[in-house]
Amino acid sequence: MNEADIQEALKKLINLGHDPSGWNTLYRDPSDNSLWEVTYPHGEMHGGGPRELKSITPDQALLVYGLRTEIDMLNITNLHAEVDSKPILKGLTLAINAGEIHAIMGPNGAGKSTLSYVVSGRPGYEVTEGSVTLDGQDLLALAPHERAAAGLFLGFQYPVEIPGVSNVQFLREALNSQRRARGEDPLSGADFLKLARAQAQALGLDLDMLKRPVNVGFSGGEKKRNEMVQMGIIAPKLAILDETDSGLDIDALKAVGHGINTIMRAPDKAVLLITHYQRLLDYVQPDFVHVLAGGRIVRSGGPELAHELEREGYVGVAA
Ligand code: ADP
Ligand code: MG
Repeated sequence: MNEADIQEALKKLINLGHDPSGWNTLYRDPSDNSLWEVTYPHGEMHGGGPRELKSITPDQALLVYGLRTEIDMLNITNLHAEVDSKPILKGLTLAINAGEIHAIMGPNGAGKSTLSYVVSGRPGYEVTEGSVTLDGQDLLALAPHERAAAGLFLGFQYPVEIPGVSNVQFLREALNSQRRARGEDPLSGADFLKLARAQAQALGLDLDMLKRPVNVGFSGGEKKRNEMVQMGIIAPKLAILDETDSGLDIDALKAVGHGINTIMRAPDKAVLLITHYQRLLDYVQPDFVHVLAGGRIVRSGGPELAHELEREGYVGVAA
């Protein structure tokens, strides 16, 4: 394979990092999760080149790169889905490991929200092919509330208002119904309040807002802070946040970024951030960035890909 072919192939691969020498680089192909490495067989002494791209096993990757490469959290394979008999997702494959934050970017109408709805089980979205597993469990076989109990959290582009239901009541019921589904004891009112207060304080939500009806009369920023408090209380394994940054002023954006980092940046958790713009990614540094266009992932890369998209738009990148 010559250098031009290698460069072309690397566009579709995700960079997982260097070996300790800093010379060799490990990659994952997001379309089939195969592992690849770029090596310099002629070595350091000869100034590096020419490079080689070759396949590597997970065992070798662990040995050489010290990286665990098996997919252990979200695994979406060849997903096809329709809305109103209209195909929207057309063979989407994406793998997310525990401890990782991934961003999906893409033009309007690409299918980003559809992906979040299909994974969370919103009615009206029909999966015609493919699979979605969370920790090895078949998500598509579960009802939406069972998916939530399994550890999936979906943040909405536009959080709904629920007049007549207090925020505290709503959050407690959401948490306890999940605890019951997992066979855990529900939290008492007092214990729940302690947890809710701590989360509200950590995320800068005025405590009075816990008593008010869910999202009613909240500003855009307050709704998002509230959603972060909800995420902190639920403590999901995987959060999918769909355009959670839309319409936020800079303070709210920082609060959301802080929320995601403090709640979800952990070795046993993962985040899929769906966003149109780079600006949220200034606060939440993604490990991987993917471009969704025409119902599939057309490009994957590291954080630098988001900057490239910001500079050049989707037209060149998604073509
Ligand atoms: P994105 O979030 O990337 O902007 P969406 O997933 O919202 O894209 O939409 C993808 C495509 O699916 C669009 O062409 C949109 O018109 C279509 N679509 C989404 N929801 C529906 C629906 N309920 N009925 C018909 N078409 C829909
Ligand atoms: Mg959308």
